[in-house]
Amino acid sequence: MIDRQTIDKIFEAARIEEVVGDFVNLKKRGANLLGLCPFHNEKTPSFNVSPARGIYKCFGCGKGGNPVNFIMEHEHLTYPEALRHLARKYSIEIEEKEESPEEIQAHNERESLLLVSAFAQQFFTETLLETEEGKAIGLSYFHERGFTNDIVAKFQLGFSPERRNALVEAATAKGYKPEYLETTGLCIKRDDGGLFDRFAGRVMFPIHNVSGRVIAFGGRTLKTDKKVAKYVNSPESPIYHKSNVLYGIYFAKNKIVSNDNCLLVEGYTDVISMHQAGIENVVASSGTSLTVEQIRLIKRYTKNITILYDGDAAGIKASFRGIDLVLEEGMNVKVVLFPEGDDPDSFSKKVGAEELQEFINKESKDFIGFKTGLLLKETQNDPIAKAGLIREIMETISLIPDAISRNVYTTECSRIMNVDEQLLISELNKTRRKNFTKNLKDEEAQQIPESEATQQQVQPQVEKIEQDCEEQERNIIRLLITFGDKPVMPAKALNEEGEEADIFISVAEFIYHDFTADNLHFDNLLYQLIFNEAVKGIEKGIIPDEKYYVQNPDDRISSFAAGIISSPYLLSPQWLEKHKIQTNLEDAQIPKSVKHAIYSLKIKRLMKKISETEELFATATNEEETIAILEQHKQLLDIKREIATKELGRVVLK
Ligand code: ATP
Ligand code: MN
Repeated sequence: MIDRQTIDKIFEAARIEEVVGDFVNLKKRGANLLGLCPFHNEKTPSFNVSPARGIYKCFGCGKGGNPVNFIMEHEHLTYPEALRHLARKYSIEIEEKEESPEEIQAHNERESLLLVSAFAQQFFTETLLETEEGKAIGLSYFHERGFTNDIVAKFQLGFSPERRNALVEAATAKGYKPEYLETTGLCIKRDDGGLFDRFAGRVMFPIHNVSGRVIAFGGRTLKTDKKVAKYVNSPESPIYHKSNVLYGIYFAKNKIVSNDNCLLVEGYTDVISMHQAGIENVVASSGTSLTVEQIRLIKRYTKNITILYDGDAAGIKASFRGIDLVLEEGMNVKVVLFPEGDDPDSFSKKVGAEELQEFINKESKDFIGFKTGLLLKETQNDPIAKAGLIREIMETISLIPDAISRNVYTTECSRIMNVDEQLLISELNKTRRKNFTKNLKDEEAQQIPESEATQQQVQPQVEKIEQDCEEQERNIIRLLITFGDKPVMPAKALNEEGEEADIFISVAEFIYHDFTADNLHFDNLLYQLIFNEAVKGIEKGIIPDEKYYVQNPDDRISSFAAGIISSPYLLSPQWLEKHKIQTNLEDAQIPKSVKHAIYSLKIKRLMKKISETEELFATATNEEETIAILEQHKQLLDIKREIATKELGRVVLK
């Protein structure tokens, strides 16, 4: 955990124009900066950055927020990852919050392991590029494989010297502790206690995590001896959990988002060759079948995945189970089958960049159709095998969360297999009932790890629910965010000397008291969330101001706040001028605006109730009912009159 003070320091240091400026070309426009939005395609710039408020806002696609939001969105990082990124940029030391001694040790260990891995990568790369041995053996091998120097540099490839203690010596000379060399698996302990290098004599492929730090290695032997393992990989360690990692994700993530598709290949060389051919939305699961964690990692960026197979039937069938997991996550799966004997690496070398892309576009087939077709070929004229096939395919389809997709696939499969669709549907329903009860049991036993739980919080689409009082609720929230710390009304109270004096209540407190007194709530869940956040602050003695929301750790709150305080007229070229006028105008009217906003919401709610009772009146079936309804109707009208009189000081006739 990063402590609050450090977070504040990061927010203070991070200039929005600098953070955005690292990725977007910004031009000055009045008090603001303007550029092309990095989150959607546009030709005329509508991406605004306001240094004064520390926010960005795109009027094309609506994205907006603070510097941390920007890094999260642009670099696809989690909140703590984005904070760390900015801390590095502004050289702010991260103070970890209230960690137990065990946590501190674990954290320090992880950091040490990352540092020693980074050192090893540099050592291997220097060996590759700058030593005779590295150039003659490693680099010439990469060149033979067709890798350019650029691509070698991009993927930070390297060479581990033949001498079995080269890394041990270099690292310990630099002060890295032997225990970390051992824990990362870079070195192995001999019986006599000495260390030797795991990867000696191999060309090295560093494996990066999502934020680009080296967490592990794969090493390929250059010997043709069949007894020597072709690839050796780092073992599991506190920084490397194989099943959570995808090779190439750091280099691919932005392209995965912009292409809205992730290509999945087998290994290191496939990823690198594809990059060299200009196809960059590609990752590898590195020799194992896909895990749920890997799929969820991809799902952070896209719902579409295309699996590239080399033409080996046994391997394809072995992968089917892993793909069921992908479908279960609600992702769309396509497959591309390469010609017999070719993988993406070799094929890209044969045909060149353009043809490779064309091949992938042309050959990508929907997974379920592909699987059905492949299995059908094997069951020809064998009714028993065909029955098994139907069950297997329906099992796969039953995993798809979306009902419409399930229907489409069922129809498609009934056509391919030439089986009555009704029969498939009843098989499908049977399977789904079975899975449902099974999942219930599993869920009880399952615990969601915390990091995932917080990530999922971001998911619910809080804005989509229909609201009748949307406009009124939104206005209150706007006032709460923009003027929360401004005084809403002076009131008289006795001070310590027993004299009457003016006291001020802030807008936030006013809204808070009024809502609590009348037991009001927001129908819009996002607004309620923001209100709750304000309450949390007020109850702690903080008067929430604009910054309180814009810099809120919950990115639903911060990006909404950034959006609402940067309405288009505020950021137009005449921003300063208009802004002044606008805020001055409203500043003077704050008390009135706030009271009116709350009044409007109450009235709107009441009017709704009133018209509901009127509807009831029309359908009343006996006198008793009619009288009760009329009574309620009168009461509501009384309340309405009372609110109107009290809040606005004028009499409403009706
Ligand atoms: P070759 O030059 O003989 O084609 P290669 O280095 O391309 O060898 P392949 O056997 O073609 O390796 O395998 C393709 C990919 O699969 C490799 O890039 C590698 O990343 C991955 N791979 C193969 N074996 C392993 C392994 N044992 N562990 C991890 N990855 C592996
Ligand atoms: Mn190969």
